[in-house]
Amino acid sequence: MKIGIIGLGLIGGSLAWDLTRLGYEVIGVSRQLTTCNMALDRAIVSRATVNLDILAQTDLIFICTPIASIIPTLERLIKYLPPHVVITDVASVKGSIVPQATQLWSNFVGSHPMAGTANQGIEAVESDLFKNAPCVITPLENTPEKNIETVSKIWQEVGCKIYTSSPENHDRAVAWISHLPVMISANLINSCINHGNQEVVNLAKNLASSGFKDTSRVGGGNPELGLMMAQYNKAQLLNSLREYQQNLSSIIEDIEQEKWSMLEEILNKTQEERPNFLG
Ligand code: NAP
Repeated sequence: MKIGIIGLGLIGGSLAWDLTRLGYEVIGVSRQLTTCNMALDRAIVSRATVNLDILAQTDLIFICTPIASIIPTLERLIKYLPPHVVITDVASVKGSIVPQATQLWSNFVGSHPMAGTANQGIEAVESDLFKNAPCVITPLENTPEKNIETVSKIWQEVGCKIYTSSPENHDRAVAWISHLPVMISANLINSCINHGNQEVVNLAKNLASSGFKDTSRVGGGNPELGLMMAQYNKAQLLNSLREYQQNLSSIIEDIEQEKWSMLEEILNKTQEERPNFLG
């Protein structure tokens, strides 16, 4: 099977490298020639170019560009392809991609490997990035079963554990465990620095330690990613934020009214449940 990968950055390049090492012929397409040359120098792909027409010879294509470029890339790509080619993407949101992509190309199946680092671009490529990572396949009702199997099999070969869900439920779930935490964490940092008493803020900066390090990590990450989460998963992120706001109000009330047993109940439950989210 010949595999095409568009966007030789962290995710696309890492996937290309693993698949090349597994013996697949991998053809890469990226935006910049320098990226293509680097991918060839490092033997991440067998061939690489900036032109999409080279992918006419492939059987399966992964679109690994930033979210905003996925649909425009698909629109430019499909004129070169015979109809049997299966296309997937790796975007971190699915509801704003999968229905539109499937309308453009009936052999499209959405997927999202839940793996990554804080780094970007071809320099960030890592081998075995996907080992033991969950990967969500997000078919629609009319997605052919054989295409789901083709895409799942490749993700399994690079080490992913496969989950299947509708695009909507995927977006709801990632809103809770990925997009909401970024907003909460960013708001934590923002609230600290906007506190009116500068002397307290300065002292807090000096005292901040492991607890603040854990809770502020995702809020102190790449701003582009946080913005993209809000733009492309707006509805589900807002639902999660509103539910979170209600729960926060209830905690504030418990503390104001000194309902310590209610607060204790919540803290006992969260201590018990946290490991269930982290395997
Ligand atoms: P990245 O490291 O910035 O890589 C994206 C690459 O796409 C860039 O290196 C760029 O290559 C290329 N590119 C940009 N526009 C292009 C275009 N129009 N045509 C062809 N190539 C283009 O980003 P990433 O972290 O790999 O993210 C890529 C996708 O993976 C996103 O859709 C994201 O939602 C998804 N994802 C990310 C993570 C994560 O943690 N990072 C996890 C799961 C899924 P050049 O160097 O040639 O400009």
